[in-house]
Amino acid sequence: MAKKASKKNKPIYLLAAATIVILGELFNIFFGFGGMTAPLKAETSVHFIDVGQGDAELILSGGEAVLIDAGPTAAGDTVVAYLKQQGVTKLRAAIATHPHEDHIGGMDKVLKAFPTEVLLLPDKTATTRCYERMLDAAETTGAKVVVPKVDERIFFDSGAQLTFLSPSPEAVYSNTNNYSIVSLLSAGGKNVLFMGDAETEIEEALLRQGTDIRCDVLKVGHHGSSTSSSPDFVERAAPSIAVISCAKDNDYGHPHRETIELLNRLGIETHITADEGTYVYEIPAAS
Ligand SMILES: [Zn+2]
Repeated sequence: MAKKASKKNKPIYLLAAATIVILGELFNIFFGFGGMTAPLKAETSVHFIDVGQGDAELILSGGEAVLIDAGPTAAGDTVVAYLKQQGVTKLRAAIATHPHEDHIGGMDKVLKAFPTEVLLLPDKTATTRCYERMLDAAETTGAKVVVPKVDERIFFDSGAQLTFLSPSPEAVYSNTNNYSIVSLLSAGGKNVLFMGDAETEIEEALLRQGTDIRCDVLKVGHHGSSTSSSPDFVERAAPSIAVISCAKDNDYGHPHRETIELLNRLGIETHITADEGTYVYEIPAAS
């Protein structure tokens, strides 16, 4: 049954023109380029939730919530409890950056706990149990499964917006990490860049394309692995704060020494969930 359900629920593609209308109408996601962000009408916060070895970030803005990743399977209950504690009752969107267990393992529990308008995924499927569980949960709860395109964005009523920067739907990568949905939150003149597990190949592509990656806060790619965070990229992004999400004494040696040395050398204030737990970045509303 799970197989059948996942086939039926296979991520859908919508042509650009259709995307504007359909997503715009249904999910208030629009296609567009750049532009100034409006004055922020409500306090906005980004919560880098301590989920052990994995990722989960919650964006809260004026009563609206978007979740980027849901941690590993073992952290599903933690993520649900954290969202409830923050007063979340529903999600505008849940973003599964890429189909690795440390990012989507807890997603089925999240979808079952909170009505979710749309589950956003890259066009990269998996045959793993956690992936099947996630798609089954989307189907049973009615969350629409959609592959976002580069430059599409989620607009919050507060004036904040989350723009998708990567991957291009037609791109093919040998490394699943590089399918990570990379997104940039712009709110009240502050930018937070979420890298998922994207590695240097994606960083180079973003630099080559001239994508504006300048940010105040960088969710460091791939748990601080040295396969992400090339000096060029971090220098260009120029964050004042970096956040690394990983577990203490994890099997991968995350974060890697090279990454920490680079962040230190550039004078970037670095927060590591393994050391200090959940980190919250707050952006005040315009006065
Ligand atoms: Zn990961």
